[in-house]
Amino acid sequence: MNKFLDKKKKFTSILAITMVLFSSFYVFASVKTSDLFGDIKRPEEEKNIEELESEKSNIEQKLEETKTEYQEQVKLYSKQEQELANLQVEIMAQIELIEKTDIDIEKKSEEVEAKKLEVNKAKADVDNHISALRKRLRAMYKFGKTEYLQIILRSENIVNALTRLDRVRYIAEYDRNMLEELKYLEQNLEEKQAELENEKKGLQDLKEIQTQQKEDLEASYAQELVKKKQISENMEALERQKQQLEAESEKIAETIRQMQIKRVYVGGVMAWPLDYNYNYITSFFGPRAEPIPGAGTNHGAIDIAAPSGANIYAALGGEVVYSGSLFSYGEMVLIDHGGGIHTLYAHSSLRIAKLGDVVNKGDVIAKVGTTGRSTGPHLHFEVRENGTRVDPLNYVVRP
Ligand SMILES: [Zn+2]
Repeated sequence: MNKFLDKKKKFTSILAITMVLFSSFYVFASVKTSDLFGDIKRPEEEKNIEELESEKSNIEQKLEETKTEYQEQVKLYSKQEQELANLQVEIMAQIELIEKTDIDIEKKSEEVEAKKLEVNKAKADVDNHISALRKRLRAMYKFGKTEYLQIILRSENIVNALTRLDRVRYIAEYDRNMLEELKYLEQNLEEKQAELENEKKGLQDLKEIQTQQKEDLEASYAQELVKKKQISENMEALERQKQQLEAESEKIAETIRQMQIKRVYVGGVMAWPLDYNYNYITSFFGPRAEPIPGAGTNHGAIDIAAPSGANIYAALGGEVVYSGSLFSYGEMVLIDHGGGIHTLYAHSSLRIAKLGDVVNKGDVIAKVGTTGRSTGPHLHFEVRENGTRVDPLNYVVRP
């Protein structure tokens, strides 16, 4: 009877412990895992810092190239502006030349017109002279040659007659000379007019050439303006590229900073978490050879035998994301090494590393103990990949 009650008592207590442990593990697994181990793996963390640094330096090199190219475009732009300014000066000078030629043409036209008037006047003089002569000749002709002679012969004496005849001859000669002179003058003026008109034509040709040159300059100006616009567009594109590269570089730098803060796990072997002489593993990862009641059949860690108070070392550098008592783990420390990798040290008698501490590989973080659900002093050492327990012997070498 007594024996039976003892057995029943024992059975009830085991059941209770199992339930408590089961529920505590359940709570731990369902709630704490996501909080403590952060099982969301970020894509950028798939790359290690070295890769990111090299990517960043590539971008920075591209950025430098972009800046250099931009500076070249800036130089080209100012050269182009100078070119346009020069062309503008040339165009203005050409316009002035054309204006001057216009004035010359105007002056020449006036000269031509004045000469025309002179020519007309000379022609009129000739015409007048000719018509006067004609009148006189007609008058003379009316009298007839005989009568003309008689006039001469009727003179008192021959001298008188000869004088009269001389005078007639003189008048005739004078008329002839006068006419010749006028004709000569007229011809001279006409030649002068033709010369002036020729000069005017030359000026008009010059103006045409100057105008053509101006149009050529204006065409060049338009072309250079297009080039300037192209350069300006290049500059804008380079500026955009520069900003984009800067943003990319900054993004990677930020990722690296975040990774450094989180001490991204970059691989490599972890340090043995105890002094090398404490290398006896009492319980390996996986199915337990001798299942301990209430602890499940699978062991997600290695248990290493060590005396109470022995140093526990950080297996890798990282940030302490938990330091405290937690269910059956007892006093424990959890370190985030980045990249979704955590290590867990349980059943400690004394915790040294505090929440938020950044520790280096080999730092003393706690002392061995037997707190929580433990049968004697030992270190329960877990490695987690994104929250899932994996065999720590994949990471540490047993000394
Ligand atoms: Zn254990």
